[in-house]
Amino acid sequence: MFDNLSDKLESVFRKLRGQGRLTEEDVSEALREVRLVLLEADVNFKVVKDFVAAVRERALGQEVLKSLTPAQQVIKIVRDELARLMGEGVDNRLDLTARPPVPIMLCGLQGSGKTTTCGKLALSLRRDKRNPLLVPADVYRPAAIDQLKTLGRQLGVTVYESMPGQDPVRICEDARRYAELNGFDTLILDTAGRLHIDDELMGELDRIKASLKPREILFVADAMTGQDAVNVAQSFNERLDVTGIILTKLDGDARGGAALSIRAVTGKPIKFVGMGEKLDALDVFHADRMAQRILGMGDVLTLIEKAEAAIDKENAAEMEKRLRKEGFTLENFRDQLQSIKKMGSMESILKMIPGAGKQMKQVKDMQLPDKELKKIEAIISSMTPQERRDHRILNGSRRMRIAKGSGTTVHDINVLIKRFSEAQKMMKKMQKLGPKGMKNLMRG
Ligand code: GDP
Repeated sequence: MFDNLSDKLESVFRKLRGQGRLTEEDVSEALREVRLVLLEADVNFKVVKDFVAAVRERALGQEVLKSLTPAQQVIKIVRDELARLMGEGVDNRLDLTARPPVPIMLCGLQGSGKTTTCGKLALSLRRDKRNPLLVPADVYRPAAIDQLKTLGRQLGVTVYESMPGQDPVRICEDARRYAELNGFDTLILDTAGRLHIDDELMGELDRIKASLKPREILFVADAMTGQDAVNVAQSFNERLDVTGIILTKLDGDARGGAALSIRAVTGKPIKFVGMGEKLDALDVFHADRMAQRILGMGDVLTLIEKAEAAIDKENAAEMEKRLRKEGFTLENFRDQLQSIKKMGSMESILKMIPGAGKQMKQVKDMQLPDKELKKIEAIISSMTPQERRDHRILNGSRRMRIAKGSGTTVHDINVLIKRFSEAQKMMKKMQKLGPKGMKNLMRG
């Protein structure tokens, strides 16, 4: 995500940091470069102009240039302004306060990820203990109805039965009645998409809006289409007065132009971002965290939230009990790996750690990411439970059997066991030291 943009901004700021004291001319030069970087990233022209003007005004303030760390101050101003641009401090939670069933309408062009996002949203609402009903109101593309039904089955969320060719407004009204009778508290309306905006489509969306009075009208925008996405968002907004934006495919967006312009151009908040094809890849949008990520400062808060979601509390307590009883074994090591995997790819996790982004290239060379994790899991899974509890019984012939079973080599297994026994020794030492000793160790 934002790789190009981050790399280029990083090199502008590296130059600035290398200079110690800064003159007005240094700052102006850096801002000229920032301006070019943003234009290359396909950020809206007027947005860039206002942004650079705002940063310049604050950066040339006397206190900044006279401070001991002027470059740091300038970077902080850029961070703040980026966050403001994307809507920092704006309430981006869904408004679901109406009498149930609360209708949420998703709209956007074909291919933007609308149907997938309906599924993601249903999953997210379910996690918040709501009971959503998915409503397929795209009657022109029968495949869209099937796609939503498949998603519903995968998620265990009910999909309202509609027929191709039925009037979409009628479908939505019937679905609302069905939800009232059957205890669904939220309606997720998957409306029709087209390749381009046309009047007929807008008319239909208008009619659904008038009849259902959705609490939220969310425009789904494909981040990878840059300024096109922003222009289309603006047209939808002018006609429908949307309540928010969901930016999809941010995982594949190296430039960031849509993410940085869409809020400023439409005046509407980005509420969620799609970070992958999987159904749990929908994140609540936080402008400040996104600004940090763009500047390679990591995103520790999101990392912690992901960890909490992946390792549910019961599991964590259970794990702790097992560790105390059995010690650190290959068996519980494998369970921990699985929790890590639930958080997403190794690469996406590392990017959220401050400073780690820059070291990503080295990490890639080490081959630490997902391939390595899979290998370790395969090896441990090919062991008997007894071997997992006590790796000391792993003689040559057992190692050969495991290599065969896991599609790896005896060398792979030797390396894993060696690393694991070092980790185990470390754990034992730490347990002996206790919390107080640990603190001393850290200080030393
Ligand atoms: P619709 O025509 O707007 O309903 O779009 P779909 O939901 O069918 O999605 C179009 C394609 O985009 C599918 O292949 C999805 O898997 C993919 N997609 C949707 N959201 C995301 C996302 O956040 N990241 C990535 N990488 N792909 C996505």
